[in-house]
Amino acid sequence: MIEVRKLTKQFGNLQVLKGLDCDIAKGEVIAIIGPSGTGKSVFLRCLNLLETPTSGTIKIDGISLLDPTTDVPKLRQRMGMVFQYFNLYSHLSVLENLTLGPVKLLGRSLAEAQARGRELLAMVGLGEKADNYPDQLSGGQKQRVAIARCLAMDPQIILFDEPTSALDPTMVSEVLGVIRNLAKQGMTMVIVTHEMAFAEHISSRVFFMDEGVVYENGPPAEMFENPKREKTRSFIRRVRRLNFQINSPEYDLYALNAEVGSFCEKHILPRDMRENLISVVEEVLALQPSFADVLLTMGYSERDGELEFSCSSAGAPVNMLEPEGQPDEIGEMLIRARTDNLQYRYEDGRNILTMQVKHDPSVA
Ligand code: ADP
Ligand code: MG
Repeated sequence: MIEVRKLTKQFGNLQVLKGLDCDIAKGEVIAIIGPSGTGKSVFLRCLNLLETPTSGTIKIDGISLLDPTTDVPKLRQRMGMVFQYFNLYSHLSVLENLTLGPVKLLGRSLAEAQARGRELLAMVGLGEKADNYPDQLSGGQKQRVAIARCLAMDPQIILFDEPTSALDPTMVSEVLGVIRNLAKQGMTMVIVTHEMAFAEHISSRVFFMDEGVVYENGPPAEMFENPKREKTRSFIRRVRRLNFQINSPEYDLYALNAEVGSFCEKHILPRDMRENLISVVEEVLALQPSFADVLLTMGYSERDGELEFSCSSAGAPVNMLEPEGQPDEIGEMLIRARTDNLQYRYEDGRNILTMQVKHDPSVA
């Protein structure tokens, strides 16, 4: 259905796509994963000609997108695109957002477009919201409207660019649910996502993008369990770390929280996990017997979505979790409520607490 050969895209001196090849068959669900800045968005934008490729070919059902004689608007209509930010028209009602394109671009009658629009809204669970305005909806609802709007144009393929990255974690699953449903119905889709578990479970094939090409591709089980190439392996297994050192009880809590916050943001940690982490950091510091060379380390594993947190400090052994240490049962209770596997050990002259920060899997 889509055949891409030697696709390149350059912005000034910056070469983003460096000879990308791929084939996508009808009915496939392709998950595109990879580090940020590797051209995933640029690739999607080239596919529907929101960007003009520098060189190479893209064929849709055998028709070249870049051939000057091709009816590009018509070909582009076959492709829907859903963005991170929903781009709904805020001055139009939900139903009007869905009928505008079909009436203007597909020549549908208003009645026909409205009937189909209501059908699609019901399909994404928003049948009741037809007459609401986008501002009255949650982020997850807006994104579902954006998907319905895209479907209203009868696309043969839908391109999703990180459809859940801008959402509050509690709303991620409702959007993923809609996408999962489309996959079941056989819709051809290309989905750029950081949701690794979702990518693994929904896709028929995974593209790992790096260095401006599809660096490795394969069925999800293979790509996640046994990737062949080193870079894929390290991306899948990687653990992102943040270390923060403190040397006095007058440490800068705001700077610490800001750094932890940007770590969470950069690696797109779910909000509940981030809130848990920030309060656990504070409680763990309050338990410290001394502020000699305190080292906070957080490591987030992309593969299993686990966030390890540890805090260590130099000094004589003091088990902070035992009452005869520093009794702060409330602090410990607060930590236990937000973590699993809280453990103390003494090693190399350091008191070490380790734990896994909790995340409610129902929002993943
Ligand atoms: P990602 O894989 O995170 O989606 P992008 O495709 O957005 O990465 O971007 C890849 C690179 O191309 C980045 O370095 C980005 O700054 C650059 N880039 C993207 N769009 C443009 C543009 N319109 N002009 C200049 N540089 C761009
Ligand atoms: Mg992107």
